[in-house]
Amino acid sequence: MTLSINDLIVTAPGDTCDAELAKQPWEFDRFPGYGPGASETDVIPAPVTRPGQLPAAYQRMPEAELHARIRAAKQTLGDRLVILGHFYQRDEVVQYADFVGDSFQLANAALTRPDAEAIVFCGVHFMAETADILARPEQRVILPNLAAGCSMADMADEESVEAAWEALTEFYGDDETVPVTYMNSSAALKAFCGRHGGIVCTSSNASTVLEWAFEQGRRVLFFPDQHLGRNTGKAMGVPLEQMPMINPRRPGLGVDEDVLRDARVLLWPGFCSVHKRFTVAQIEQARAQHPGVRVIVHPESPMTVVDAADAAGSTDAIRKFVAAAPSGSVIAIGTEINLVNRLAAEHPDKTVFCLDPVVCPCSTMYRIHPGYLAWVLDGLVEGEVRNEIVVTDEVAVHAKVALERMLAALPKAD
Ligand code: SF4
Repeated sequence: MTLSINDLIVTAPGDTCDAELAKQPWEFDRFPGYGPGASETDVIPAPVTRPGQLPAAYQRMPEAELHARIRAAKQTLGDRLVILGHFYQRDEVVQYADFVGDSFQLANAALTRPDAEAIVFCGVHFMAETADILARPEQRVILPNLAAGCSMADMADEESVEAAWEALTEFYGDDETVPVTYMNSSAALKAFCGRHGGIVCTSSNASTVLEWAFEQGRRVLFFPDQHLGRNTGKAMGVPLEQMPMINPRRPGLGVDEDVLRDARVLLWPGFCSVHKRFTVAQIEQARAQHPGVRVIVHPESPMTVVDAADAAGSTDAIRKFVAAAPSGSVIAIGTEINLVNRLAAEHPDKTVFCLDPVVCPCSTMYRIHPGYLAWVLDGLVEGEVRNEIVVTDEVAVHAKVALERMLAALPKAD
C-alpha cells in the first residue's frame, strides 16, 4: 500500500518538521486575520469574521462526505468554476484541480478561462492575489483557507522595502536600480515594482527577468528570496562579491560602502522554510547510498546545495527532468515532499525520493484541507462567495504592470 503524505504525517508526527502538521488546520487557524504572506492592503471578506476557521459541521464531516460534496458541486457548477492546484498541494485536494502547475503556469492557466465566474485557488495567498489581479473584474477569486499564506512572502513587507529603496536611492543618487520581486510576495510589493520600473519573476523565468532588468538599469534589488536571487545571478556570471545581502534594519543596510557601490544584485534576507532544509550532507549521503543517483534541487535551496547537485530548476523543470530520465534511474530531489511523492507515483519504473528524510510539506499550503474546499464550493452552489480574495484597484493597477512584464518574459527552454 502506498502511504500518502497525510498518512505519513498522522502516523509519524515525530518525523515531521513541524509538530502542528499532525493537527487539523482548523485547530490552529484561530486568529482573526490573514495568514502569512497576505497583502496588508487586501480587503477582509465578509461575512467571514474569523478567516481561516471552518464551520464546525465541516470539521466533523466524514472524509467520504466531503469528497462527495466536492464532486457534486463541481458537477453542478460546471464551466462556471475553475479550480487551480499548485504542485505542492496535498493529493486529496489537487485531484480536483482543472490545472495543476507552478505559480507561473497557474497565473497563465487562469487567463485561459475568462468565462469562469469563480476561480478557486488551491495554493497560497499570494497566488490567489495574483489570479485576482489578472482576472476579469467580474471573476471572483477564492482561497479556500485564508490562513494559507507563505512564510517567505512574509519576510518582505512594504514598509521595509520602501525604506531600503529610499536608502539605496539616496546612496546611489541615480535611477539605475531595478526592483525585482519573486512571485512569492504580497500584491503590495508587486505594485511597488510596477511603480518603480520593476518586474515580477518566478523560479521558471528568473534568469530571463534578470536579463531584462539589467537592460533597464545597472543593478537589481531582488526580494524576498535571497537564494533564488543568488543562484540565478551566479548562473549568469555575476560574481558573489557583487551580490551582497542587505539588512533593511541596519544603518547603511548593513553593507560596506565599497561593496554597495559595485553591487549588481542586492539580495533581501528572505528564504523558504521548506527549501532551506536541504543540505550538502544530504546530497553526499544520497550519493553514498545510491551510486549513480542524479540529484536535482529547486533554486530556492542554498547556493552550496545547488552547486553540489547535478541540476537545479523550477518545479516544472524538476518534473521534466524526472520524465526525461531513462527507466531504472535513481533520482534524489530537493523540493517539497508532495511533489516528490507524486513524481515517484507517476514514474514507478524509476526510484524517486526526497533528499530530506524528514517529512516537511509546505505547512501553509497544507492548510487547505478538503473540508475547506467543500465549504467554499457548497457556498458557490448556494450563491455565496466565501473567502474571496480582493486586491484593491489602487494596488492591482500597479501590480498588473509588473506582472504583465513577467508574463512577457518567457522562461528559457529547459
Ligand atoms: S514552499 Fe516555501 S516559498 Fe513555496 S509557498 Fe511554501 S513557504 Fe512559500
